[in-house]
Amino acid sequence: MAEVTASRADSGNLDLRGDALRVLDHNELFGLAEYVEQHAAKREMEGAPSDEEVGQTLAWSQGWEYRERNFAREALVINPLKACQPLGAVLAALGFAGTLPYVHGSQGCVAYFRSHLSRHFKEPVPAVSSSMTEDAAVFGGQANLIEGIENARALYKPEMIAISTTCMAEVIGDDVKMFLGSAEQAGALPVGFPAPYANTPSFVGSHLTGYDSMLFSILSLLTQDASAEPTVEPTFDPAVEPLVDPAAGPRPRINVLPGFDPYVGNVREIRRLLGQLGVDVTVLGDHSDALDSPADGEYRLYPGGTPLAEVTAAPGALASLPLQAFSTRRSRGLIRDTWGQQVLDVASPIGIRNTDAMLMAVAEATGTEIPAEVTAERGRVVDAITDSHPYVHGKRVAVAGDPDQVLGLLSFLLELGAEPTHILCTSGDAEFEQAAYDVLHASPYGVHATVWTGKDAWHLRSLVLTEPVDLIIGPSHLKGLAREADVPLVRFGFPVFDRHHLHRYPIVGYAGALNLLTWIVNTVLDELDRKAPDYALDIIR
Ligand code: SF4
Repeated sequence: MAEVTASRADSGNLDLRGDALRVLDHNELFGLAEYVEQHAAKREMEGAPSDEEVGQTLAWSQGWEYRERNFAREALVINPLKACQPLGAVLAALGFAGTLPYVHGSQGCVAYFRSHLSRHFKEPVPAVSSSMTEDAAVFGGQANLIEGIENARALYKPEMIAISTTCMAEVIGDDVKMFLGSAEQAGALPVGFPAPYANTPSFVGSHLTGYDSMLFSILSLLTQDASAEPTVEPTFDPAVEPLVDPAAGPRPRINVLPGFDPYVGNVREIRRLLGQLGVDVTVLGDHSDALDSPADGEYRLYPGGTPLAEVTAAPGALASLPLQAFSTRRSRGLIRDTWGQQVLDVASPIGIRNTDAMLMAVAEATGTEIPAEVTAERGRVVDAITDSHPYVHGKRVAVAGDPDQVLGLLSFLLELGAEPTHILCTSGDAEFEQAAYDVLHASPYGVHATVWTGKDAWHLRSLVLTEPVDLIIGPSHLKGLAREADVPLVRFGFPVFDRHHLHRYPIVGYAGALNLLTWIVNTVLDELDRKAPDYALDIIR
């Protein structure tokens, strides 16, 4: 806590400089004498343990004995690194033009999804709820759903309403499909109005499952009448998105599935990179503009998103390229089995090797070639890696996050000569574990790593405190354990609440590799300076 200072000058309206407008950060605010005294009085009233007792327990919780007990726990989860299924469904819905995410369930859940996404993307997140309360829990939520749809259409005029469910609706067994039929009969939902729905109970799965379920539902609905015959001709609507150069003839087109992607820069980077190959892209779905809209004085409820007509045409593309595997499982199955389309199953294009593999797969599927400008870009990033290599090589790293991002990051860390040590993925499964060990064991730097699935941030705390690392890479939720372990944290993945604008950069492609390298090496250098004795505070690194 910050040093104790005097009380505020006038019961809270002025700061110590007499400035009424300066908002005090928590660091300063709770260092004021009035708060320090309040805190001490609260501890006394509650009979809180002494500082010595707290210190002893803390020291014990940092050791091996506690680690073993911690890993033996079964019925308790502490700070899991995952979010609710419908949160993922909301993100999936935001990827489509004019689409209103509609959550059938309690208001509180939806407030959490919106605030969680807003805190990461720093953008407003439109989503509505059927506001189920006690009576709906007893009698079912049909009336709420129908009235909510009627209101949502009247107020927000969406082109599509994408409906997901919370635990409450799932526990009482609400039949959303039947309710939507009733809504049509009641005239609240015009027949044929696109209203895809996904069952998204949060007592199973994660935000990745929910994302996939909603994407699957949207793709299924919008392409149910589409031909399963792939064609080399682009079948998108030229009126919606004209060819870049009509004189040059049609360019090959593929679908790109970003998955649950917390980086709005990724889709833009993939579009740019594939554009250099001469390949056009339909993104299924593109939430980058919805969560990164310009401040030009006009609020738009539905900025960006993939036009629904483009989705309908998507089965006619040459192939589909998922940028994530674990958040697109069902959707990839639909594309492969129902559309009869080739799915380019490559690793998330994070790092040099994975980007190479992705580009070669696209080039082969589309009959294009990788141009010299892309090769030059790659070479510049390899050069940058060589420059930074001495500082990253041999660094022991703990990594935590969502499966595809973790796998991509592991591959890149091994390219840098870093040594991934503790790998933790709360929403990971046996397939992820195998994939992670495959990546790790392909390099001498990865052979000592251990992979933990289904574990939470409190497990990671024990790992890092008993087997120390040089660096932690993962979401903001790890900042407490990073401070306790006195190890720097590189913010990565979802959510990143406490650092600004990282999500605006790409982490995929060669440009993404350069961004990641920059964040990692400069964190190492900051730490080197922070711990340097006076004689070693070099200005050249
Ligand atoms: S776990 Fe279920 S009830 Fe809780 S916020 Fe998530 S969806 Fe709502």
